[in-house]
Amino acid sequence: MSENSCSTGSCGMNQNPEQIARQRQVERTLGGIKHKIVVLSGKGGVGKSTVAASIATKLAVEGHRVGILDVDIHGPSVPRIFGVKNERPGMTDEEKMIPVPMTDNLKLMSVGFLLPNDKEALIWRGPLKIGLIEQFFSDVDWGELDYLVVDCPPGTGDEPLSILQMIPNARGIIVTTPQGLAVEDVQKSITFCKKMNLDLLGIVENMSSFQCPHCAESIEIFPGKGGEMMAKDAGVPLLAKLPLNHKLMEASDNGKLMQAFKEMSSFDPIVKVLSELEEMQPAKKEAGTMAASATQMPRKDDRIQTIAMPVDANNVLDAHFGHASGFAFFVVDTQKKIVVEKKTLTPPAHEPGVIPTWIAAQGTHTLLTGGLGESARKILVDKGVDVVVGVSSDNAEKIAKDYLNNTLNIAGNQCNH
Ligand code: ADP
Repeated sequence: MSENSCSTGSCGMNQNPEQIARQRQVERTLGGIKHKIVVLSGKGGVGKSTVAASIATKLAVEGHRVGILDVDIHGPSVPRIFGVKNERPGMTDEEKMIPVPMTDNLKLMSVGFLLPNDKEALIWRGPLKIGLIEQFFSDVDWGELDYLVVDCPPGTGDEPLSILQMIPNARGIIVTTPQGLAVEDVQKSITFCKKMNLDLLGIVENMSSFQCPHCAESIEIFPGKGGEMMAKDAGVPLLAKLPLNHKLMEASDNGKLMQAFKEMSSFDPIVKVLSELEEMQPAKKEAGTMAASATQMPRKDDRIQTIAMPVDANNVLDAHFGHASGFAFFVVDTQKKIVVEKKTLTPPAHEPGVIPTWIAAQGTHTLLTGGLGESARKILVDKGVDVVVGVSSDNAEKIAKDYLNNTLNIAGNQCNH
């Protein structure tokens, strides 16, 4: 089998191979998780971790399989909220970290577990911090989960940015408090999420009022309609207004959040929105089978994908699928819409079913071809490969780029025997 790598760099191959490998690893690690919910805030202290931990608790109490990942590297407070101290994650045989179980269906992993002690701040420089975050995403054995709730570092800097880049198909929730300054920060967060193409579920206004512990009367602390206004301006829902709740604060600050479950009724609207995501999925009992096969098959939501196409000696798409002298495999970053790696391989001899099986075995997500017989198409589709037929002959790199940019010209199937 011959192998030619693109040496010109014209296809955008200048991405660090380690980064590509890491991103693939992250996608495999998160492959068994159905919904990834990132909790963000424009600044610290608005209750982001409390909200993330409470949402995770409520979802777990409802019977979902939930993980909570605390990547707030400057103030990893989720272990404290759950009363987990001096914990070190166990390791699997494959050297993946095992999250700490809170209950049968709620597990926790925190960057705090890797710090020497909970008083030590993380004073590493940027690239090291990003490396740590990447490790968190790739080296944790989550298994199968319905929800992973991610407590993101506050702000719109490099750390939240790399987190959002790494998680395929994440959905975001922004936490804010109602006062004027917080509003500005959150507006930045909204712009940030839009730039990152994050599917924003909505805004949560925390500490929006104070509930008197004696008479239960609700008192507005900050004037104005911060959360409501922001949500309206940004065209995203205001998911909930959470009152300042003394009992919740006490429980959260004393590591007893789970015991304060009754204090979380104001979180109901958020959990309802998240549960609806789950209802859109097939029945829970099928989830195991789905996730198991999903890890073996290419996933539609992988950020790094492989596109294959039959090519001739001039690197032009060959309309004769079964007789092409080579197949080009492009590893692409579907988010950045660039080709990051390319190789051309000689296919095995043309026997019925052999080439489609071989293409799927290369980890191909999508085959772009001029024409294709029905039996070959079926083999590919059964193996999870998307098949696009009717692609006109052209330079292979151009086709890959057009496909990424949704500008590919598709005609009819040019060969269906
Ligand atoms: P962040 O993650 O945004 O820095 P935290 O979740 O750590 O913020 O919350 C900061 C403080 O505010 C904590 O002491 C927490 O217990 C308290 N807190 C957060 N939300 C509420 C709430 N709705 N009611 C009462 N206290 C809250």
